[in-house]
Amino acid sequence: MKNIASIVADIAEEMRGMTDRGQVANYIPPLACVSPDRFGIAVVMADGTVHAGGDAEEPFSIQSVSKVFSLTLALGMIGDALWSRVGREPSGSAFNSIVQLETEQGIPRNPFINAGAIVVADVLLASGTPAEAIAGVLRFVRGLARDETISIDASVAAAELATGYRNLALANYMRSFGNLMHPVEQALGVYFHQCALAMSCRQLAMAGRFLAHDGRDPATGRCIVTPQRARRINALMMLCGHYDNSGEFAFRVGLPGKSGVGGGILAVVPGTASIAVWSPGLNAKGNSQLGALALERLAARTGWSVFEAA
Ligand code: GLN
Repeated sequence: MKNIASIVADIAEEMRGMTDRGQVANYIPPLACVSPDRFGIAVVMADGTVHAGGDAEEPFSIQSVSKVFSLTLALGMIGDALWSRVGREPSGSAFNSIVQLETEQGIPRNPFINAGAIVVADVLLASGTPAEAIAGVLRFVRGLARDETISIDASVAAAELATGYRNLALANYMRSFGNLMHPVEQALGVYFHQCALAMSCRQLAMAGRFLAHDGRDPATGRCIVTPQRARRINALMMLCGHYDNSGEFAFRVGLPGKSGVGGGILAVVPGTASIAVWSPGLNAKGNSQLGALALERLAARTGWSVFEAA
């Protein structure tokens, strides 16, 4: 195997030349303005070494990747009680689908589809006002990445609020089943702001390290979650992290991963590395087209698929 530094550099170079980059999300107006020619990658190894390439330092809207962090916080607050309000099965449906909520009594299939993440946001409101819950998410992510410069792009949150009819419908529908405890505007306020977190690949990969190391941040030794919880979050990422594209992502890449419509993907190599990739063009299922391709090549060249025998 070539060394990891040159594998990352090669992949960044290969992605630069790609023409078939997918479509930038346009249903959230500020995201439609991001140039599709961006590509970034950052790989943080267990010893803290970072291998970065392309636009790895440029902040982007992490969108649904934030659902990993909000889930971690909600589990810290109410533990397994969460699972009476959110399922743990892949949905096989689009990230913003409403159909299963009718037959399943307002219980979303998993915490990574929008409906599930809105319930998780509702749980976070037990910590205080919407502003306090949002501040708690920001504090958590800054602490994980050990970077106080990470911020929330208020214009992205405001644009989602102005255009988020589908999410409003999901929230109202779940509230009608009694699965939201707070006013829908509050749960959505938390949800839209967490989605509007702006982070670079380097910052995102740093923030995901605890998932690669049994719940412990290897830089500080701090226990973020128990080893069992880290494994379970990874299991959910593998099975649900790319919505109705999760099977394809597992097939091609073989790593737990969580995507967002900003074009970011956080991927975890247990025991070895935390990886973030970013390319704003999306495939038909709303996941980064080049991000997935880059991870597929990275896993193939490093042998990092979790299904590969050591
Ligand atoms: N904020 C986006 C939405 O609610 C997140 C979707 C995504 O990243 N898949 O539509």
